[in-house]
Amino acid sequence: MSSTDDKDTDASGASAGTDASGASGSTDATRVTASDLGHLRRAVELARLALERGDEPFGSVLVSADGEVLFEDHNHVVEMDETQHPELAIARWAGARLTAAERASATVYTSGEHCPMCSAAHGWVGLGRIVYAASSEQLGRWRAAWGAPPSPVRALAITDVVPGAVVAGPALELEDEVRDLHDRFAHRHPPT
Ligand SMILES: [Zn+2]
Repeated sequence: MSSTDDKDTDASGASAGTDASGASGSTDATRVTASDLGHLRRAVELARLALERGDEPFGSVLVSADGEVLFEDHNHVVEMDETQHPELAIARWAGARLTAAERASATVYTSGEHCPMCSAAHGWVGLGRIVYAASSEQLGRWRAAWGAPPSPVRALAITDVVPGAVVAGPALELEDEVRDLHDRFAHRHPPT
């Protein structure tokens, strides 16, 4: 992980002033760039697919250093059990099939920021950069407003769990779409 950190952050000081909408030339790994949005939209599409299948709307995509989609998944917490998050599936897939260098140079795109379980798995297998559409803080705020039950697991920033992680998000362009998916799920599963 430290090698990823070194590699991805060495130019961050040179890119001040760029933003998400005009960052095609940016090398700042902690910003959501225009080139990130395609993969991020696919992660949100997978979240929508999960919702359509009756599951909680989270989706994630693993992309190699040269832009190849290696693996993708969505939540299976209703279908299977509460630990079946796509970011955990990605960590396990990558841990079994990729070299350490391939993992460190890969990027995980995800519709929602990793939970602590998935952050830990990401850190244990040494995956690279994370780009998320909506933050855990946003999701917690939305769910509270809808009267949804609180998460049994404390929401922590990814870097609270994996100090060396390189993280970009949230993506303002996708915020409304992600909120709508979670709104629909929360209202299908009202508190009892
Ligand atoms: Zn998770």
